[in-house]
Order: sequence, then structure tokens, then C-alpha cells
Amino acid sequence: MPIAPTLPNAAGPWLSLCRLGAALLALVVATIVSAEIARAVGDTPVVAVSARIEAEADETRLVFKLSEPVAAAALHTAGPDRAIVDLPYVNFQIAESPEAGGLVSGFRYGVFARDRSRIVIDLASPARVASIESVYRESEGAAFLTIALAPVDRTAFDDLADQDARRLLESAAAARSSAPSIADDDRPLIVIDPGHGGVDPGAVAAGGVTEKDIVLSFSLALRDRLEEGGRYQVVMTREKDVFVALGERVRIAREAQADLFVSVHADSISSAPQVRGLTVYTGSDRASDAASQQLAERENRADAAAGVEEQEIEEGVADILMDLTRRETRGFSHGFARYLVDEIADVARLNSNPLRQAGFRVLRAPDVPSVLIELGYLSSSQDIAMLMSEEWREETTTAMADAIGRYFTTRFANRGIAPVSP
Ligand SMILES: [Zn+2]
Repeated sequence: MPIAPTLPNAAGPWLSLCRLGAALLALVVATIVSAEIARAVGDTPVVAVSARIEAEADETRLVFKLSEPVAAAALHTAGPDRAIVDLPYVNFQIAESPEAGGLVSGFRYGVFARDRSRIVIDLASPARVASIESVYRESEGAAFLTIALAPVDRTAFDDLADQDARRLLESAAAARSSAPSIADDDRPLIVIDPGHGGVDPGAVAAGGVTEKDIVLSFSLALRDRLEEGGRYQVVMTREKDVFVALGERVRIAREAQADLFVSVHADSISSAPQVRGLTVYTGSDRASDAASQQLAERENRADAAAGVEEQEIEEGVADILMDLTRRETRGFSHGFARYLVDEIADVARLNSNPLRQAGFRVLRAPDVPSVLIELGYLSSSQDIAMLMSEEWREETTTAMADAIGRYFTTRFANRGIAPVSP
């Protein structure tokens, strides 16, 4: 269940054993991430401290309390029906989200691009943003952003969404990060892709620990581990709590001409808290099993959760050469996935069936060997404890670096490069 549409703190029962630890981890990660972004965007970003919903018969208002007024613009998307409000960068420090009410069935917020934030409102029934007001009230020493929603009929809403579709695409394009430029360098290039980010929290554990934070801190540790030895170039699809569309992640890997793409996630199955362990996935048109297919479907909804139109991932010209490339790439992906499972088996808990396949959108580059690793399950209290353990992270990133070393030793033997694991 808990891919993005869930509110960060609208979660179910929590296992008391790890409540404190998980909360502490969330706090530490959130603090580090917001400090990093604050450095990136300037000294005093606008802070949002609380939110409330005021539901009346003919209008529902979503009101945010901020340190300063902000400029805001609204868009609408149909199926699912949403109102999207774009803002300059806002540091959301909202401890408690209000219950859904009136025309609002849920909402979430977060960084959407380096210097922008976004509020995504799920609509209980068709409604338009009738007004947005952002004013400073001297008496309260704070600014208030009031998003007023008024009901409209289905036809009017669909018309509105049609008109906004073009603006939405333009706003997604503007949010694209530019591909990192890689100097002339012969070392193998690895793209590490921390899943989700910004307005899309990914899976959310009861208690508020989010997949986007867990996988970012793990990915940064993996990057540091790989860079230590100086044998690889490493490119991250995100280094901060920022939203990156699925197609954009693939584009970054292809434009960098990556030799390997590793997407990092942490799943959640609330109906099966006993399911545990790390799983490595490779891309395939046919899923290896039903659970993997459902997982890929959940992960593939990341763009929609952030209110971004799904864009077709450029898969290269369909010709016989590209077919050969794709087949060869899949072979490399499987080979690498086996090394990963092999190395990690010695140090960490694996899923009972650790090597699987499914149609993940981020694994669709025809020319970049790609795997997606689900570190563990946020629905398992034991896995959360594991994901938070410094020792586990150390051992797992080391095992992954060993697997990467084995992979390139074999793959690039003829290039005269033999990157022994650092
Ligand atoms: Zn994920």
C-alpha cells in the first residue's frame, strides 16, 4: 500500500519496539536532508510549520502556516483527480497533518526540484482551485497560504485538466535536472539511483520513516564506498530530497553512458509483516511472480504520485542491432544481479526468493545493465531495525562494492581494467 499517495504520518499501527529508533532515524535523516537543501537554495528558506483543512458546504480550504508569504500557482489533473500547487522552495516542517475533509481526500507536499516545492491534493470529488491567497498576518506573526477549492461538475473539471495538461508538462520539463557532465575518463561509470524523493515519499512505515530517506542515506553511503578506492566514476540521480521522474532517471544513465545502473528501494507489504529481506530485481517484460509484478506496478506509479504525466521512456530505435544490444544488456544485468545476491548472502538477510524479475520502468534502458535492489521491507519491524543499523549498512555497501568489483573484473577484462573491490 504505502507508495506515495499515503500521507507521511497517516500510517497504521506501529510496533513499539522500534518506534523510538525509527523516529530518531527519521528526524536525523530529515534534518540532514533539509540542512543540505537549505545550503543549496540560500540561507533562510520559507518554512511551513502547520496545515489545517477548513471544510464548508460550498468551499474547502487547505491552509498552511508559513514563515513568509510565497508565490503559488495551481494546476488540475484528472484520473485520479488532483489539484497541484507549485511553490518556490519551502522547508516543510509539519509535525502533524490534519484529517482529510470536505473536497480534500488527502494531500502531500515536498521538494519537487532543486528550488521548487509542490503540494499535491487528492480530490474527493471534482473541484477547482477557486483562489490562492498568501498573506502575512502581523497579529499572528506568520504568513498563511490559503488554497480554496470549490466544487465543479465533471465536464468542467475535465476541461480544466485538459487546459492544464500542457502547463503540467512544461513544469515537469523545467524541473528536470541537467545531466551531469563527465570528463574524459576511462573508469567504469556507475549510476546510483535512490528511489522516490521530494513530493513522492515512496513506502511509508508506520511512525513516519519513509523509503525516500532510507534509500537516500544508503545510496550516499554506497557512493562514498565506491569512490573511496578511486576506481569508479559515480553519478547519483539525486543527492537530496528532491523528486526525479522515472524517465529522467533512465535518461541520466543513458546520457552518462553508464556501465551500470543500480536503483535502490525499500518495499512495504502491510498485509504480510513477516516478509523480510533483501531482493534484487532485473527488468523483464514478464514478471517472475505475481508479487514482483505488483511491486513493479507500485514503483511505476511514482510519477503519478507527484502529479507528473508519465513520459514514454526512450527505448532506442527498434531494429535488429538494438534488439541484440538489449539482449546482451539483459545478460549483463542478470550476471551482475547474481554477483550481488552472492556477495550479500554472506553479510545480510536475503528474501526467501532473492533474485526476481519484473517490468520496472527505471530498468528499461536498452544499453545500460540495470538492477533494482529492494533493501528490505518497511512493513517488517525486524527489517526496519536492520535498515537503521550502521553495521548492516557498512557490511551491505561493502558486499555491493565487492559484487561491482567482480562484475567489472569480468566485464572489462579486455579493457585492461581490473578494478579489484576497493
Ligand atoms: Zn520504491
